[in-house]
Amino acid sequence: MTKIQMKTPVVEIDGDEMTRILWAQIKEKLIEPFVELKSEYYDLGLVNRDKTNDQVTIDCANAIKKYGVGVKCATITPNAQRVEEYSLKEMWKSPNGTIRAILGGTVFREPILAKNIKSYVPGWTSPIVMARHAYGDIYNCEEKEVEKGTVAELVYTKDGKETRQLIHDFSEAGGVVRGMHNDTSSIDHFAHACFMYALEHKMDLWFGSKDTISKIYHHKFKDVFQEIYDKHYKMKFEALGIEYFYTLIDDIVARIIKSNGGMLWACMNYDGDVMSDLVATAFGSLAMMSSVLVSPDGYYEYEAAHGTVTRHYYRHLEGYETSTNPVATIYAWTGALKKRGELDDIPELCEFAKKLECATVETIESGIMTGDLASLATGEVTKVNSKEFMDAIASRI
Ligand code: NAP
Ligand code: MG
Repeated sequence: MTKIQMKTPVVEIDGDEMTRILWAQIKEKLIEPFVELKSEYYDLGLVNRDKTNDQVTIDCANAIKKYGVGVKCATITPNAQRVEEYSLKEMWKSPNGTIRAILGGTVFREPILAKNIKSYVPGWTSPIVMARHAYGDIYNCEEKEVEKGTVAELVYTKDGKETRQLIHDFSEAGGVVRGMHNDTSSIDHFAHACFMYALEHKMDLWFGSKDTISKIYHHKFKDVFQEIYDKHYKMKFEALGIEYFYTLIDDIVARIIKSNGGMLWACMNYDGDVMSDLVATAFGSLAMMSSVLVSPDGYYEYEAAHGTVTRHYYRHLEGYETSTNPVATIYAWTGALKKRGELDDIPELCEFAKKLECATVETIESGIMTGDLASLATGEVTKVNSKEFMDAIASRI
């Protein structure tokens, strides 16, 4: 068999723990036998991030700017315990946070459905696609713990003139303070990206925030969406028979539960972080959610929505067999290869990526699956380990 040739490399971003092990197996079993893989490799494993003082994270984001398409493995975001575990020089920042701060944009997350895996919410018969604004808010903020007696103020400087706004007078007790921001250009892009995605996929778009409480910050998002909708998209939405509506986030969550799915749900950064885990889990498993960052400049970064699956990794280190689900990581690769195929006009690469996705879902629908799905599936089930699952997919391709 001749392998499919590529023209431009994908930026390959390796990661940590269990997902790092799956990463190597996916390449070896499911991609390299079929594709003459061209990739520019960046090792974002925690050991190498520490060694390079996290420069490798910045380098990989710039490489995505150069080549247009990246695929990323899950990575550890260090906390105090990780600093000790890996003897780190510093508690390095979240790599996803650093990459998103450089590329900006919106993360689209879509559940991967299989016929024999039933949602925990019986009404959800179509996928709910999440659109998470990937810039600003608490992810690029400054925080401080302050002592009793502190006065916390916001200070704005423009043309040498200073204005101040009181946040809180901590005269009674100490506490915590945070300053955060967002850019209008980033909110504009978020809105355009959501409206375009809804049009392309012919889906209703729902957006919610807490504008009744955050009368300026959250309200800004609501206003930007409405202005852009009225000016650029209203007629196109009406022509397609799809709908955009805004309501309070509280109302959205209640409506989502009662819905049949099938909509694009736009969320501010933190809401999207939390709600996409809820939606993924309700549809079956965190490992059945694809994720792509779409930047305003047309760069794409594909990844899995879940983490490095630490609990499984520690069992793996103890010599136990693990049944970790590689589906979302496989879809990160297929997403990146499909995009590379589209941009470089290589239809057989797009076709291969679609075949790999079909073979993955069909393997699950044939009853062969990892442990996270086995407990949810209907019909006959053979629970296998990660390696056996990938072998079954490979033989199906
Ligand atoms: P996690 O790795 O997503 O895993 C949480 C739990 O979800 C697992 O213990 C497992 O449940 C289940 N799970 C997730 N992915 C699975 C898969 N592919 N197959 C089977 N089960 C799966 O989250 P975490 O344990 O909170 O975080 C671990 C590390 O990942 C942390 O260091 C965190 O910083 C990092 N993280 C990275 C990213 C990213 O790079 N995008 C995102 C989130 C977290 P059971 O144990 O019950 O089987
Ligand atoms: Mg999250």
